[in-house]
Parts: sequence; structure tokens; C-alpha cells
Amino acid sequence: MRIATTNPATGEVLKSYEPMSTEQLEAAIERADLAFRDLHRTTVAQRGRWLGAAADLLDAERDDTARLMTTEMGKTYAAAQAEVTKCASACRFYAAHAERMLADEPADARAVNATRAFVRYQPIGPVLAVMPWNFPLWQVMRFAAPALMAGNTGLLKHASNVPQTALYLEDLFRRAGFVEGAFTTLLVGSDAVDRILSDPRVRAATLTGSERAGRSIAQIAGRELKKTVLELGGSDPFVVMPSADLDRAAEVATTARCQNNGQSCIAAKRFIVHTDVFDAFAEKFAANMAALRVGDPMDAGTDVGPLASSGGRDEVHAQVRDAVDHGATVLCGGEKPAGDGWFYPPTVVTDLTPQMRMWTEEVFGPVAGLYRVSSYAEAIEVANGTAFGLGSNAWTTDPDEQERFATDLDAGSVFVNGMTTSFPELPFGGVKNSGYGRELSALGMREFCNTKTVWVGRGEASAGAGAHAE
Ligand code: NAP
Repeated sequence: MRIATTNPATGEVLKSYEPMSTEQLEAAIERADLAFRDLHRTTVAQRGRWLGAAADLLDAERDDTARLMTTEMGKTYAAAQAEVTKCASACRFYAAHAERMLADEPADARAVNATRAFVRYQPIGPVLAVMPWNFPLWQVMRFAAPALMAGNTGLLKHASNVPQTALYLEDLFRRAGFVEGAFTTLLVGSDAVDRILSDPRVRAATLTGSERAGRSIAQIAGRELKKTVLELGGSDPFVVMPSADLDRAAEVATTARCQNNGQSCIAAKRFIVHTDVFDAFAEKFAANMAALRVGDPMDAGTDVGPLASSGGRDEVHAQVRDAVDHGATVLCGGEKPAGDGWFYPPTVVTDLTPQMRMWTEEVFGPVAGLYRVSSYAEAIEVANGTAFGLGSNAWTTDPDEQERFATDLDAGSVFVNGMTTSFPELPFGGVKNSGYGRELSALGMREFCNTKTVWVGRGEASAGAGAHAE
């Protein structure tokens, strides 16, 4: 894929880049390795000051950075501004809490025949981050903030359509004070990932992206025996039960589906509605979706901007056409508009069957599938009936049902009476083909730490480790 900024609202190529040469890539990996030797010896407090400085820069530069993201991938300017602010708060969160998250954890020394025993969390070295374009700042930050705080260095291979945001990130961390090489943007295509991950200096990889890319990176990492965290696709269920507040559910459903122009891994994509309230919900939801304003993402009145690529729009439209060709009903949208830019209207499709692509595939655009179910059991069956398991949503005011959904939905998160989102305070990730490992919270920081067991004995012959060697 060409490394270039192409404005999705116009289709105009604004800036393109030559991929790094083999020599430049080698030098970047070497710098990351050298920087690690310095960075992991700095104190958590020092790294916290640098991350705090990054947060201040993000706040100060919010509008320009937001404009850049909107130009590169089409999200609305307001959403881009919110994304910058969210990144700044995640930096401040990790700057404030890393000391506690990385503190030694004492164990019961007597139980293990020691004078002292504890777990120590230590950084492991340069980590490769392969990232997607849909939240070009946030996806990177939720890896970079905890990884840098832990003392790791980062090598970013960002999506090829957001090179300027990728370069901004490298510049941001350098200006914030991190040592040269602590965070490096690699302007390379996905064909370079094998070579980077095979390099012995690169210790691990994290990928946020498609299932296809996940399988490829997991294969390389398996061959090289390296740790990976994979955040992949999702087709999140949004279940509406009879006790739900339908107005509120239909309103949140609209945002949950069309946030980020419909291109979010944790967007609700399948709306599974109890038959008692199906017709009422369908009417409200389709009306809300049809009322959204599609247009210039820089315009404050726009709700939904263009999709990020022409190919992405074609794929979404092909999924809708496939459903219609197999007998589905379109309640609103469903037509690809003429003219410049890769716009697609908010669309609701119902009467879906398992033969249709929409039943099993992720739809990465503002298109909702609407399913009618007649019981709680059927709702769970449909909700869990895909290969994905990222987020999930359930709408019910019945406390018993709320508890059951929390247990029965086979996903990395369950949001009851709300839409799936991410917080630095809570772990984020999926099950099944949505990936493995967790980002955010202390768990996300520790994914790229060596969880080291430390045992200290008395040094006497009668007591200590070694008695039960394995
Ligand atoms: P993608 O094609 O997988 O691209 C993501 C990143 O992986 C890009 O940097 C891409 O580089 C690289 N890549 C692609 N194929 C690769 C391969 N075979 N080997 C190594 N690297 C490869 O994903 P996308 O279509 O742009 O993004 C949308 C997908 O990401 C959706 O499925 C979405 O659900 C998922 N996603 C998941 C999460 C999550 O947290 N679980 C969050 C956001 C998005 P190039 O750009 O150079 O091709």
C-alpha cells in the first residue's frame, strides 16, 4: 500500500512518502535498542514527567492535530478533537498511576521458604506496534503511554494512509523529553513487518487491525517465539430487551453504530431486539439513522464523514448488496452516493439470514444489521453466534437479566445500558477471533513487562529453593 495522505472527503492525494530503506530501518531498530538501555534506567517519576509533558503538548496542539487526522482519514473534526483530549488524559493517567502499577508485589515469604519473595515488573525492550488508521492517535497512545512508562521503547508501523499522524507521534514524544529513539515511527509497508519482528533486538509486537493481519503477525511471532497482543475486528452485539428504555436505547444505538463514521472495532454492529419491542425500536432507530447528516467532516453540523478509503466503501456496499440480493430488507440508506469523496449513508438492514455475509462478517461502515429474537436464550445465541468476541451491549432494566448478560455474553467486555467504549482505568481486548491480550489499565502495561519472580533465602543448607528443583 502506498504511504500517503489522501483526503477521503475529496479523494485528493495530498502528500506521499518513500518507504524507509533497509539501512534506515536498521538504524531505527538500533536506536530503539540503544534508547532502551537508557530508558529502562530512568525512574518512573522521570518518565511520568515526560509523559505529562506529552499530555500538555497534546492539549496545546489539539486543533491542528485534529485537523490532520480529519484530513488523513475522514473522522469528523469534533471527534478528532475529542480523540486528542482522550490521549492527553490517558498520558496523565499512566503518569499518575504507573508507580503503583509497577511496584514490587510482595508474596508470602514463609510459604515459599524465603526471607523475602516478591514479583517485580520490568520492561523487556523495543516493542513493535502495528496500528490501524481508524483512531490514528488513540490506538497508538493506548500502547505507547503504558509501554513508555514501563520503560520499553516503541517502534511504530502505522497504517499507510496516516503517515503524518504517525510522524507527529514520534515528534511529540521527542519534544516531551523522551530520549532519542524511545519512540520511532517507521515509514514502511506491511511487507516489512516480518523483517522487523524477526530482528532479535525487537522483543514483542502489538497489533490493532484486521483478523488477516493478526494471523500473519501471530505466525511470524510464533516462528520467532515472541510475545504478541492482538486487538482485532469485532461485530459487537447490541441486545435490546422489553424492559429497556427504547428511546434511549435507539439514541445510543445510533451513536454506537455511526461513531467514527461507522469505522470502530467496538462499534455495535448487530442489533438484536426482542420481538415484543422490535417494531417500536426498529422505527425509532431507522428514523435516527436516516436523520444523521453526512458530509464534510470539517463542518460542525456533520454527524458522519466519509469512509477512509474507496476500497473500504466498496466492501461495505458489497456486503449490503449481498444481503439485499439474498432477500434482506433495507429500512434506510443502502445506496452509494455519486460524486467526490467516499461517503456512505447510515443504513439499517433487516430480515437477515445466516447465508448473508452480514450475518458473520464485520461491516466497517455506518451499516446496522437488525435481528428479531423471541427470548433471552435466542438473544444470547445470536449475540454469541459469530467468530468475534470484542465488545457487547445489553439493554435491560431487569437486574436479574443484567447479571445473566454479564456472564453469558462471550466477549471481552459487556456494557449494560450503555455503549462500549474504552477507559484507561479498565482493561480492553477481546476473545475468539477478536484477539488476545489486554490493553489499558495495569494489565495493559504488564503485557510488555517481564513478570519476574524474586526469591531471597537465608543462604543456609537446610532451607531454600533448590530443594525441589524441576
Ligand atoms: P489492517 O488492514 O489489518 O491494517 C492495520 C495495520 O496492519 C496497518 O498498519 C497495516 O499496514 C498492517 N497490516 C495489514 N496487513 C498486514 C499483514 N499481513 N502483516 C502485517 N501488517 C499488516 O486493518 P484495517 O482494515 O486498516 O483496520 C480495520 C480493522 O482493524 C477492523 O477489522 C477493525 O475492527 C480492527 N480494529 C480493531 C481494534 C481493536 O482494538 N480490537 C481497534 C481498531 C480497529 P498497511 O496500512 O500498510 O496495510
